[in-house]
Amino acid sequence: MAWFEMSAAPQARKPLEAMWAVCSSCKAHVPHEEWHAALRVCPRCNYHDRLSCRERIELVTDAGSFQELNGRITFADPLKFEDASGPYAAKAKGAVAKTGLNEAIVTGTAKIDSLAVVLGVMDFRFLGGSLGSGTGDRILLAAEEALRTRRPYIIFSASGGARMHEGIVSLMQMARTCAAIAKLQEAGLPYISVLTDPTTGGVSASYAMVGDINISEPRALVGFAGRRVIEQTIKQKLPDDFQTAEYVLEHGFIDHIVERKAMKAFLANTLRYAGVK
Ligand SMILES: [Zn+2]
Repeated sequence: MAWFEMSAAPQARKPLEAMWAVCSSCKAHVPHEEWHAALRVCPRCNYHDRLSCRERIELVTDAGSFQELNGRITFADPLKFEDASGPYAAKAKGAVAKTGLNEAIVTGTAKIDSLAVVLGVMDFRFLGGSLGSGTGDRILLAAEEALRTRRPYIIFSASGGARMHEGIVSLMQMARTCAAIAKLQEAGLPYISVLTDPTTGGVSASYAMVGDINISEPRALVGFAGRRVIEQTIKQKLPDDFQTAEYVLEHGFIDHIVERKAMKAFLANTLRYAGVK
């Protein structure tokens, strides 16, 4: 076979995405092997790529220690909501089929460096990590489990905010989750909030910001309203780094930025510092 025929054979070509991971922040191409070895952190710009809840649980908990709670709780559709792009129920069922999850957060008990905790990890793939009534139920029940068993509570957030398809019911989850967490704080149990890319809207305005300590992964988008909405409202140009974890740290909204590779050790050290045994 002539060389030009060989190169034209379709089976000889590998699609680009099979060979390289592309950083969604700086567009650097990184070989998959290197990308995964770095826990999906870009070696060029330090952007911490979004992880599924299962990947994150594996990274921060002791192997085999995670036991899911309330995995059957799923979305509710109190308004029978429908917009131009179709019914909410169909979209939610699509998210269930696509992600294998029933809600935008997975909660359970786990060990982190041998310390028993209650853990909640959001997954942005499920309807943008939005906070619906099912999400709120899971967060609240996990907080009650922490209270009952006197374990610290840790939530990793990744969310675009309240799930507006559920209207006022989604907004009520902001108060419900904060009330459940306040009970932990009254009982002297630590609550750690970890913000990951992105944590915005009704989630950043509720349980993600009421931790005894609020930390973030580097370069995560952290904010409430979107940049364009704010710029149009105040009629001013915002700085380029506005709503990055680094910017909100500098302005006192979070306490610390923790690299992904150091997260597990940071959580364990913080819990031990808080007296957890
Ligand atoms: Zn990058």
